[in-house]
Amino acid sequence: MSRTCNLPRDHVVVIGSSVAGLCAAKLLSEHFARVTLYERDHLPDTPVNRGAIPQGDHVHLLMARGAEELEKVFPGLLAAMTAEGVPVVQNQPESIHFTAGGHVLGTGQVLESNFTAYVPSRAQLEWQIRSRVNQIPTVTIVERGVSEPVFDPVAGRVTGVVLDDGETVPADLVVDASGRGSRLPTWLQQWGFGRPREDSVKIGVTYASQRVRIPAGQMAEKMVLVSAPHDRPLGMGMLFHEDAIWTVTAFGVAKAEPPNDFPGICDLADTVLPPHISAALRSGEPVGQMNFHRYPTSKWRRYDKMDRLPEGIFPFGDAVASLNPTFGQGVTMTALQAANLREALAGGVDGLARRLIRRTARTTLPVWLMNSVADIEAHGAQGPRPKWYGPMFGLFDQFLGAAETDPVLAEWFLRRTSLLDSVWMTPPPRIIGRAVRTNMRQWMAEKSRRRDDVDQPAVTGSGTGS
Ligand SMILES: Cc1cc2nc3c(=O)[nH]c(=O)nc-3n(C[C@H](O)[C@H](O)[C@H](O)COP(=O)(O)OP(=O)(O)OC[C@H]3O[C@@H](n4cnc5c(N)ncnc54)[C@H](O)[C@@H]3O)c2cc1C
Repeated sequence: MSRTCNLPRDHVVVIGSSVAGLCAAKLLSEHFARVTLYERDHLPDTPVNRGAIPQGDHVHLLMARGAEELEKVFPGLLAAMTAEGVPVVQNQPESIHFTAGGHVLGTGQVLESNFTAYVPSRAQLEWQIRSRVNQIPTVTIVERGVSEPVFDPVAGRVTGVVLDDGETVPADLVVDASGRGSRLPTWLQQWGFGRPREDSVKIGVTYASQRVRIPAGQMAEKMVLVSAPHDRPLGMGMLFHEDAIWTVTAFGVAKAEPPNDFPGICDLADTVLPPHISAALRSGEPVGQMNFHRYPTSKWRRYDKMDRLPEGIFPFGDAVASLNPTFGQGVTMTALQAANLREALAGGVDGLARRLIRRTARTTLPVWLMNSVADIEAHGAQGPRPKWYGPMFGLFDQFLGAAETDPVLAEWFLRRTSLLDSVWMTPPPRIIGRAVRTNMRQWMAEKSRRRDDVDQPAVTGSGTGS
């Protein structure tokens, strides 16, 4: 266990015991004597959904990169989830149906390198992580809410927190992992630091989800992900979890309403999924009630742009950036923040917040831009729209068109969209050349097919009825 800090390092308080808070607690426990997590919600002893985490009722994807990074924080996590029956999916054509921007990728194609995806339910993922944190002797998880941090204006630093019941708890460091509803911007303003700039894109997402028991043997796929293409504001996801029940989510973007009952979801499936998957869904038995959730805005609080920040506190997880959930990146982005925290901690506690915030801005920027281009250009989501967004979207549409029939291009895209490779999306010349050649071939084939159609003698139908 490394102990590289050179300032007070006795007690850390973490606000919020979800994925971000648990990751932060684990990493900080390697540098501080005690860590206390405060959670306002009731934390169940078993892997079941809890009230403060509405995303548990909906399709909740763990990206391959997210799994890799979480395993680094919690060694043994992936094997333990597999032992609990969490499906493990290789990127083989038969196990995933993936459609991006209306282009079907990977289906029927053998990709060059395999990567592994794990499909835990949200409840299972959080419970597995929490069980590991519970085993660290110096970490305590307490079911009590935090009202606000304590700021010492003379020292210019945060010195603890006040709990909902009024008790004050001293701390050398406070981590705000309270999610997208974080009140840190308001507190910073009250303490005289001003509010961080908030970048936002109004995405108008609505989720409608149903758990479904589909008879075994109806479909080989374990993951079905269909994003909303530019000419249709609806998409779908289906994930098969450890309890052998599917979570099926229909979603609308740009304020479009998804179907609000199971027959409606099946009707949507008939139009966006391959026939064997929509038939399998129709043969399924709904389990429990439908659940709905609205997610109006993607937000990125730009703490990296602030001139001054107090010592003794930093935001973590969705409290910094909460992205369009239909792209399934939230946990992975939090896991990347965990990697940033590990690196920032290697430099000690002095200036930790500033170093972490800068690193997190660097890992967030490309993903934020990629999402914004797709949201704004495909569906007219509202947000800043630099001139290069339109041409960039056009190029990617061309790229995805070529990737439908070219496994090398499909793989290039899938590895980046899973955040496995560098998230800067600029393809190297080799890949651009390949996309251009594939598109040319497709264009020539289409042209020659049209010419053949014109050359065919017209079928008039005369005489067929006499
Ligand atoms: C509908 C939806 C779908 C999503 N789909 C995906 C997906 O497919 N893939 C993916 O990777 N991510 C997805 N996400 C995002 C993902 O769940 C989050 O990125 C992830 O949970 C990390 O968030 P967090 O821990 O920062 O915050 P949260 O998970 O929001 O947790 C914050 C915690 O802090 C607690 N809290 C808040 N205030 C206080 C307080 N004052 N005192 C004590 N406790 C407090 C809350 O009770 C809660 O437990 C989705 C989110 C939503 C809403």
